[in-house]
Amino acid sequence: MTPYINDFPPESLPISSIDNIPEPPLNENYSYNKELQRILYGKQLLFENLPHSIEEIHQHYENSYISYRKGIIKTKSKIVCARCGNKDRSLFASFPCARCGEKECTYCRKCIMMGRVSECTPLIGWCGPDSVRDLTGNPLEWAGTLSPGQQVASDQVKQAVIESKELLVWAVCGAGKTEVLFEGINTALAIGKRLCIATPRTDVVLELGPRLKAVFPGIQVAVLYGGSEDRHLQAPLTIVTTHQLLRFYKAFDTVILDEVDAFPYTADETLQYAVRQSRKETSSMIYLTATPSQKWQNECRSGKRNFFTIPARYHRHPLPVPDLKWCGNWEKSLKKDKLPSAITYWIRKRLDNQKQCLLFLPKIDKMEKVLTILRKTYPKIQAVHAEDPDRKDKVQMMRNKEIPMLLTTTILERGVTFPNIDVAVLGAEDRIFTESALVQIAGRVGRSSQFPSGDITFFHYGKTESMIKAQKQILKMNTEAKKKGLINH
Ligand SMILES: [Zn+2]
Ligand SMILES: [Zn+2]
Repeated sequence: MTPYINDFPPESLPISSIDNIPEPPLNENYSYNKELQRILYGKQLLFENLPHSIEEIHQHYENSYISYRKGIIKTKSKIVCARCGNKDRSLFASFPCARCGEKECTYCRKCIMMGRVSECTPLIGWCGPDSVRDLTGNPLEWAGTLSPGQQVASDQVKQAVIESKELLVWAVCGAGKTEVLFEGINTALAIGKRLCIATPRTDVVLELGPRLKAVFPGIQVAVLYGGSEDRHLQAPLTIVTTHQLLRFYKAFDTVILDEVDAFPYTADETLQYAVRQSRKETSSMIYLTATPSQKWQNECRSGKRNFFTIPARYHRHPLPVPDLKWCGNWEKSLKKDKLPSAITYWIRKRLDNQKQCLLFLPKIDKMEKVLTILRKTYPKIQAVHAEDPDRKDKVQMMRNKEIPMLLTTTILERGVTFPNIDVAVLGAEDRIFTESALVQIAGRVGRSSQFPSGDITFFHYGKTESMIKAQKQILKMNTEAKKKGLINH
């Protein structure tokens, strides 16, 4: 049996017509191709992703160094894509296929940007030995110290890694969650394990890459995102966007998923499937977030989920608690080219005292309107949104204190840090401002140890449950931090 390819003799069958793909016995004396092992270990790739000839690949299969899995699994009642987990019939299509000669060869449209997986496409993986690495005793080179809150969390992470457990680290914004991973990663690397840090956002991958390379200087770190060059790099530590995980199969002893609540992970089942597929059967899973979903919070409370909180920031000051302020029908005011007086007062008080501020708005058109109104008095104010080509420049101008105030959509809810700012939301009742979005937005305030406090106000036209829950969550963390002695006051 060979998976059917053009170059194979006509008696071979397309992989879709083989019920059980045979697993030939392992030939221990086979001298396998080390290059192929390096590229393929822990992956699931297509013939066209591999620079090697089909004959060579197939010979590895016959000696049990390579495995074939069906790309598309079709039963009477359903179709599943084995690479991305797609089960939605509307996301499959058929084409007259030159490879298998069928008039209707079904393929998955959902993951097609990574190469077409059709009924006659095998997913190729490595089932031979892993390459042996020279182990260095203690790869971590970091001179920093952990806060007491970080230290306990770090011990928990380390334990989860050693015992192949699942753990959610619920760390408030500004807790310093990356440092909490160092010891756990170090322990795993020292015993030859493979780790992956996955995150939904390319920005985060680009930021984490150099940071981890700096603290693990003797270890190869692969940094994978759409268009990166490390695609075939086999490294003990891999940092990927959740999307790139689709290339991996049973690869990692530990997967660390950062910002588990952030778009698009929760929105997209494919990515959850990718995370599951990328883990070895015995592996640990560390989730990191400042804002777990309602479902996860409930699971934590009822004891269904193993979790650990870091309720305080590393600088030992409490989290600023949002103030909820009714501001009337602000959209109606905007139509009359006006801002609600409560907002005007809030802005004036800050700008007249040279205090920088951020104002979040639910929609771009509303933001543009507010910008026009404000610029009559403060011409230097800028606004950013996701598609703004000058986004990075404007954020930098804000950092350089060249502009007094930045208006923004939720695009700046995560990841950005300005040292000394006050923050407000206008239209906090909008559906886009979920509990976690609001906690993240509040988390922009008071992050620097030089300016650990600041003001956060949600201006609204009717309180929502999200606003109240966000406020409660922050208050609860502060109470817990006090109890644990993690804040100064
Ligand atoms: Zn697919
Ligand atoms: Zn086909």
